[in-house]
Amino acid sequence: MKEVKLNDQPAICITDEGYGALLTLIKTYSVCRECKSRYRETNPEVALNQCLECFLRRNPSVRYIKTEVDENSGEELSLFLNPHGYIEYTRHSDEPLWLHRSITRTLEYWHFPLPPKTISIQEREVNVEKLWHIFGDIQTANVLVFYYEHYDGASLGKPYPVVAYLTYKDGRFILVDENQEDMQAMFKKAREKLEATKDDRGNYHPKKPREWHRNRYYATSVMRNEDMYRYFADEVNEAYTQATSPTLEIDPS
Ligand SMILES: [Zn+2]
Repeated sequence: MKEVKLNDQPAICITDEGYGALLTLIKTYSVCRECKSRYRETNPEVALNQCLECFLRRNPSVRYIKTEVDENSGEELSLFLNPHGYIEYTRHSDEPLWLHRSITRTLEYWHFPLPPKTISIQEREVNVEKLWHIFGDIQTANVLVFYYEHYDGASLGKPYPVVAYLTYKDGRFILVDENQEDMQAMFKKAREKLEATKDDRGNYHPKKPREWHRNRYYATSVMRNEDMYRYFADEVNEAYTQATSPTLEIDPS
């Protein structure tokens, strides 16, 4: 048995079968709150009481990708691409108040391998699934850096431990080791570029990620790991592009 309330009437008890029939009826006759039109294939529902056209009118910077059912929650989600290349989604069970960013779906969209959900740090398994930062331009890069800084509170005054991976569009996935020869060279270049942003008063002015478009540079008196890895991501990409671009062959004759 289920109870249903229609507008502000008292609850009515109906059978489960009746409830199922009611849901079908509601799905058939539901309309967009804003334009009052029924949903159709070319203009589907993308959030509670909102059609795609009305949603895009309110969120003109995103592009509609698709609607799908989430494997874990069984929820219906609509996916959008934002101007910075990230996938954001609406839940069909929620009013369309905001978009939720999904790192996993973003990486899948651009065909990058996914980072591990848990890592071992200081002899402990830590769930970092929602804590990865992505460095590199996801829309153009062939290599991205996954970055996790472990704010443990224990190593006060010392830099926090960092775990980072390189993820390649060609499917490779490599743990970053600052002492490994190739990477050491790229870290050196990254450090030099960051050093070059230093002003007369000793403040660094590192570039910020593209999505912080309002103020692309900021000042900091210490060289932060995070900034260094951002520059490192550029170096890795440059090295990859150089290694894979066709070389000019000069005919000796
Ligand atoms: Zn509408």
